[in-house]
Amino acid sequence: MRDPNVSLIVAVSENNVIGNQGGMPWHLSADLKRFRQLTTGHHIVLGRRTFDSIGRLLPERTTIIVTRNRNFHFPGAVVVSSLAIALSAAAGDDQPFVIGGAEIYQAALEHLQTMYLTRVHAEVAGDTFLPEIEWALWTLVESERFGADRKNDFDYSFELYRRSGT
Ligand code: NAP
Repeated sequence: MRDPNVSLIVAVSENNVIGNQGGMPWHLSADLKRFRQLTTGHHIVLGRRTFDSIGRLLPERTTIIVTRNRNFHFPGAVVVSSLAIALSAAAGDDQPFVIGGAEIYQAALEHLQTMYLTRVHAEVAGDTFLPEIEWALWTLVESERFGADRKNDFDYSFELYRRSGT
């Protein structure tokens, strides 16, 4: 079998904010829609804090929660104690998605083949940041910009990056 295309998906501001006080610092309806379209049918890997902020299983996806708490359970979710175990649990999926937050993105960086970024074109106050990415290892293969509107707080761009040389 081919190596799985481990993919990161994130919305990030110009100043690298991804979260604030346990939640998302903006409302971008188009980003939620893209997230749903891309991840449906796949495994999603997330940290326990991001799971807490969502608070439920997302339909038509297999949810893998990473936590150090051995007593943590949630009906219908797979609960694991490391990112490596999460990726093993998703081994049958040709495209598992790492959906955050910052701690899980950091642990996943070396495993990633693809990154779906929604670049939010604003400087936003927040307390959680996308970890530093070694951009020289990545090629931007798609980018499309959209304007803010009634359902989207800020201008944003959908960007697709692939690991260079793959
Ligand atoms: P997180 O990465 O979601 O979860 C951290 C938790 O995951 C840790 O407390 C621990 O759980 C577990 N964990 C992390 N690394 C681990 C490891 N190596 N082994 C085992 N367990 C591990 O938390 P976060 O960094 O605080 O991110 C949450 C914030 O990001 C929220 O504000 C959320 O809204 C935001 N977010 C934004 C986006 C976006 O696209 N903008 C996406 C996702 C999340 P235990 O404490 O249970 O042991």
